Amino acid sequence: MSDKTYIDLPFFDETHRALERELDAWCGKSLQHVDHADADAACRGLVRQLGQAGWLRYCVPAAFGGALPALDSRALCLLRETLARHDGLADFAFAMQGLGSGAITLAGSDAVRERYLPRVARGDAIAAFALSEPEAGSDVAAMQCSARLSDDGSHYVLDGAKTWISNGGIADFYCVFARTGEAPGARGITAFVVDADTPGLTIAERIDVIAPHPLATLRFDNCRVPVGNRLGETGQGFKVAMMTLDIFRASVAAAAIGFARAALDDALARATSRPMFGGVLADLQLTQAAIGDMATAVDAAVLLTYRAAWLRDVQGIRTTREAAMAKMVATENAQQVIDRAVQMFGGLGVRVGTRVESLYREIRSLRIYEGATEVQKLIIARETLAAHAR
Ligand SMILES: Cc1cc2nc3c(=O)[nH]c(=O)nc-3n(C[C@H](O)[C@H](O)[C@H](O)COP(=O)(O)OP(=O)(O)OC[C@H]3O[C@@H](n4cnc5c(N)ncnc54)[C@H](O)[C@@H]3O)c2cc1C
Repeated sequence: MSDKTYIDLPFFDETHRALERELDAWCGKSLQHVDHADADAACRGLVRQLGQAGWLRYCVPAAFGGALPALDSRALCLLRETLARHDGLADFAFAMQGLGSGAITLAGSDAVRERYLPRVARGDAIAAFALSEPEAGSDVAAMQCSARLSDDGSHYVLDGAKTWISNGGIADFYCVFARTGEAPGARGITAFVVDADTPGLTIAERIDVIAPHPLATLRFDNCRVPVGNRLGETGQGFKVAMMTLDIFRASVAAAAIGFARAALDDALARATSRPMFGGVLADLQLTQAAIGDMATAVDAAVLLTYRAAWLRDVQGIRTTREAAMAKMVATENAQQVIDRAVQMFGGLGVRVGTRVESLYREIRSLRIYEGATEVQKLIIARETLAAHAR
């Protein structure tokens, strides 16, 4: 049984507490038999299942089929933490519906929002977020994928590549960031929504990773996108991308907490049942020290993560610094918690099929995507120095 005492913290109100209880019960019933053998099929099935059960409604605002008037960070974090604790791929399927449609919610015209968001909320359309490129990962502003206005002004013509795109190959649409060139670097980028079946958009390569989920490199060759599919003003794409990441970065931290809690639960069960030296593993003081460190690491991540979510929801402020702190600490701590759990399991910890073994693979990419830990450190330092100078 996972520690649920955090849910009584003043960061949450009763609707959050009820949401967590209902989702936890639903996961216990509905995610027991997810077949992960084919990640594409599993992911499609999970999006449908999460949509039918109403959970994806938290990814879009109420005016377009969502559950709440605006995206609520605490709800998103609770959903991701709970899903991740039960099934990593279910968390992935949920997260990408939110991240993949976030730019539409934040910057799309009403017509575009009406066309995409209700389908996202029902699980009828699979979303993706296409920012990274082979030569522009951490250094997003170095992107080269271009979008030029057609001669008759009716379309943008996209050329270039995007890589590491989650849901690449199974998505129905991609929110794509491309260089329109109004200014150098970050100020010359614009966001677009591109349907997966648009001529000129192809899947160049599928990518296999250690914790399988749909992932691909996309190619754009003379790919014509209607002007109406632009998200926000020209030159504002970088800002749209960063605002989207500001919301979802804290939710990556929450997913890491879910993985860490699962590992801690399994470690506790193992330590209290594994006979050793005339007692059980948990009788040994070195084990107790590890458990003390693990429990504290989880709680520290919880406080930073739900602080960031609360500040955004209740104070309505941009939480760049707090979300970066949460993402850095939660993902790094989760990696350590899971590693310690693997150690406590001994040989069984690395045996394929043991849950801590899959968590060990699952957590690794969270320290890299949506800004690697080093990038989060720089964000925190920049914001802290700026606050000091004010
Ligand atoms: C599983 C997975 C899913 C992903 N999904 C998506 C997606 O859906 N959409 C999308 O657009 N992208 C996605 N990405 C891409 C991800 O955001 C990038 O991998 C990430 O931004 C790092 O970029 P990169 O891989 O090019 O590494 P690089 O930019 O080459 O960075 C390599 C390493 O350099 C270090 N580093 C970076 N900056 C600094 C610095 N200033 N000082 C010192 N060291 C530094 C970090 O340790 C970093 O990991 C995904 C990646 C993975 C692994």
